[in-house]
Amino acid sequence: MINLKEECGVAGVIIHDPAPPTNIVAFKLYYALYALQHRGQDSTGIVVFDGSKPRSIKRMGLVSEAYSRDTLQDIVGYVGVGHVRNATYGTQTIENCQPFVLNFKGGTIAISHNGNLVNSTELRDELESEGRIFTTALDAEIIGLLLVKELLKQEPVDALKSVMKRIIGSYALTIMINGDLYAVRDPIGNKPICYGEIEGGYAAVSESVALDTIKGKLVRDLMPGEIIVFKKTGEVESIMTTDSSFAAHCVFEYIYLARPDSIIDGQLVYSARERIGNELAREHPAAADIISPVPDSGIAAAIGYSRESGTKYLEGLMKNRYIGRTFILPHQEMREMAVRLKMNTIGENLKDKSVVLVDDSVVRGTTSRRIIDMIKDAGAKEVHLRVASPPIVGPCYLGIDMPTRAELIATHKTIEGICAAVNADTIGYLSADGLVKAIGIDKSKLCLGCITESYPVPIPGEKCYCDKQCKMDDFVPEGEKKEE
Ligand code: SF4
Repeated sequence: MINLKEECGVAGVIIHDPAPPTNIVAFKLYYALYALQHRGQDSTGIVVFDGSKPRSIKRMGLVSEAYSRDTLQDIVGYVGVGHVRNATYGTQTIENCQPFVLNFKGGTIAISHNGNLVNSTELRDELESEGRIFTTALDAEIIGLLLVKELLKQEPVDALKSVMKRIIGSYALTIMINGDLYAVRDPIGNKPICYGEIEGGYAAVSESVALDTIKGKLVRDLMPGEIIVFKKTGEVESIMTTDSSFAAHCVFEYIYLARPDSIIDGQLVYSARERIGNELAREHPAAADIISPVPDSGIAAAIGYSRESGTKYLEGLMKNRYIGRTFILPHQEMREMAVRLKMNTIGENLKDKSVVLVDDSVVRGTTSRRIIDMIKDAGAKEVHLRVASPPIVGPCYLGIDMPTRAELIATHKTIEGICAAVNADTIGYLSADGLVKAIGIDKSKLCLGCITESYPVPIPGEKCYCDKQCKMDDFVPEGEKKEE
């Protein structure tokens, strides 16, 4: 079972000309963030603007704990942005809770960011040397300060284009600038973001499930490098900042991160996971009595494996639905208890059976070992581990909380060594080609950085596969381009 954590989920809502200003925007953001809770559980925030001043709520913890009907009731306005966050960098403090809000000479902006800037250190140094004082550890603050500088010189869309030329990495943004809503996707389209129609307006969200929740109708995903402006007058405008021919969508959205009922870049995640299971069964068949998933993220792949192999699907593990998706417990022995708290075996389904266990990935191997031990303790004869992703051999620089290379089991063990370490009888990983085929998106439009150790953006000390396909030269402002 994977222990990767998505960093954030973003949302933005605009309602046209409500009179009087309504709290419906705050409530829609609340429900959208609730649907995106799997993308971040440490903190959450909502900022709503009524045309004169922003009103915000920011809290640590889950969406269900952070907001009450009474607090949302008073947050009136016609446009707003919201955020859920996992604290993978910076401390878990309220200061680092988004949306990031800035009042400046030209008005007010509020920013929600999902992703990670790989040139944040340089940009932070540059802004600090100009006398800016940072109040958070957030990339959203860097984006906000750069944006304010540009907004003092030019119109919002041009200001955003200028900022996009400076920031490198992954970003899906919902931004409120003086009462208009902007949705922005990075030029490699690494993080998902889509928009849809809602009653009386529009919403832009990390995943389409959030639109479903607020009774919205998905219009489409943003294209890589696209800015969409939702004006308070009701007009919607799309501006492309690249030709969008190059993309690097994160494959782990399909394997594990996104909700299975989301549609991302035209693919229903559940179907992609089923196809991954089909492919896994073709690549790594096993003679077994049952196919069983590691819940929840292994379920669709296990169903796919079962259909392809013709072997019965039967659940051998049951998840406790009343605890969070990720562990917060820091110590080894407590993690062990957390596994048992999180998951229990269904002994009758496992006893004397040969089991194909389908998991989304193996990261450190420690959780896989504990789960396989539990299944064997419950009486299973054999456990054949089938992994719905290739071995993870590199870190992620684009916003997924991934262990270091030294902690990744696949960097220091052979496949046979991993099999022994997790106490499986056999092990089979899906190949990179099989994964790409199952996702159904051309390989040239996917990020496989942590699998191939070749990344879609330049990272010091790592290989960059794009060979300037992502047009990194374009990110250097004209005045700063060096002569060859
Ligand atoms: S490196 Fe891996 S986890 Fe990070 S964006 Fe690329 S595919 Fe996703």
